[in-house]
Amino acid sequence: MSAFSPRTAAIVVAAGRGERFGAPKQFLVAGGARLVDHAVAAAGAACDEVVLVLPPDQAWDGAPVAKVVPGGATRSESVRAGLAAIDPLAEIVVVHDAARPLAPPELFDLVIDTVRAGADGAVPAVPISDTVKRVEDDRVVETVERDGLVGVQTPQAFRADRLRAAHDAGGDATDDAAFIEAQYGMVVVVAGDPRNVKVTTVADLTVVEALLAQSEQKSADAP
Ligand code: C5P
Repeated sequence: MSAFSPRTAAIVVAAGRGERFGAPKQFLVAGGARLVDHAVAAAGAACDEVVLVLPPDQAWDGAPVAKVVPGGATRSESVRAGLAAIDPLAEIVVVHDAARPLAPPELFDLVIDTVRAGADGAVPAVPISDTVKRVEDDRVVETVERDGLVGVQTPQAFRADRLRAAHDAGGDATDDAAFIEAQYGMVVVVAGDPRNVKVTTVADLTVVEALLAQSEQKSADAP
């Protein structure tokens, strides 16, 4: 990072209760470390500081981070708790889900560079391969036109002032770009990584373990 790079702060949100999974999935182990440890390591490699948002009353025993703060009842509230704790001088803030242990530091660099180039926000996106249908009570009511639809991942980077202003009104959304979009901000899409899986089911954890084993093997084979 050059002396003229804007300061960057990462917020790693790890305060979910894992209601759909049945346990706080961010503390499961894959590839010899917890999912949250992988996420903190990638964020720390790419950003000047990491603020970690944990379930209230949970102590942190992983790699050093700038701050640990208690999360809220929703993901958006947890992000706001992180926003209140980051370095006030940080110009770019990156929000990342602890449930995505395979986001490479290069993906953080890509979203940060896109904001440095002038976007209000930058999100990694991957094509959707399944047919998408809207259902009500187990009945299909519509097949959604897939053209122009993408799946969006974290890490997501933002101008810190824009993200603060966008979150000021409160509210809830499944990602942070939605708050910027609601204020007509410019959110730019970059190429996501299909391996950047979000652990939501036990099957996802198996996939993550296989991908981590593969990348460890590649590093061991490297000359
Ligand atoms: O539940 P979901 O998979 O959308 O959670 C995405 C990320 O947000 C996870 O890393 C989870 O720990 C975090 N989260 C949080 N606070 C909440 C809910 C979710 O930090 N109240």
